[in-house]
Amino acid sequence: MAKRSLVSYQRKGSSLVDDMVEQCSLCEMPKESSSEFCSLHNTALRNLENAFSSWNKAYDGKISKKECLDKIETLAETGQSVKEMIRCIRGKGGAT
Ligand SMILES: [Zn+2]
Repeated sequence: MAKRSLVSYQRKGSSLVDDMVEQCSLCEMPKESSSEFCSLHNTALRNLENAFSSWNKAYDGKISKKECLDKIETLAETGQSVKEMIRCIRGKGGAT
């Protein structure tokens, strides 16, 4: 009666699943399926867009997105994730 080893069929610690999860463009968290960002940075992006529309109203449409981003970035209450998002938008040339 021969002993058969099943060891070769058991692959422990396979990283296959990890490799298939795509990362956020700005950090190492897995991105949300509908976006290129994780939930943290998606929230940051939404906050930024809300902030831009309020600034735009306050300035009667006379502020560019770039100027707006510059101002938001200097505010003490702006969170780290929002600042990362601002740099990302600038890097893409999306704030002209
Ligand atoms: Zn992220």
